[in-house]
Amino acid sequence: MTQTPPAPLPFAKVPADTYAAAFSATCEPTETRRGVLLTGTCPRCGDRMDYLVPTGVFLVFPGGSGPRPTPVMCTCRAEHPGRPDDDEGCGAYWTVELTGLAS
Ligand SMILES: [Zn+2]
Ligand SMILES: [Zn+2]
Repeated sequence: MTQTPPAPLPFAKVPADTYAAAFSATCEPTETRRGVLLTGTCPRCGDRMDYLVPTGVFLVFPGGSGPRPTPVMCTCRAEHPGRPDDDEGCGAYWTVELTGLAS
């Protein structure tokens, strides 16, 4: 038996409802001066990634403390064939909801 190495996951823009929950399970939010840095594992390709949510995002929702739908995309640095030069990650994207973060 010969072991074939796993082929790299091709780049594809794919949203999926399951990504948000899977990412949230691994995600660690860190508040920084520039915004909230989400660090976790991409639910599609399994690579480490982080995504900076600018604090300004929260300023457009004054007065509330409810969930803020925030788009997140994979930003891993692994190889994914077919990825455009001006893109990053494996193409997966999803929406997370951030709560309780003061601006
Ligand atoms: Zn990846
Ligand atoms: Zn990915």
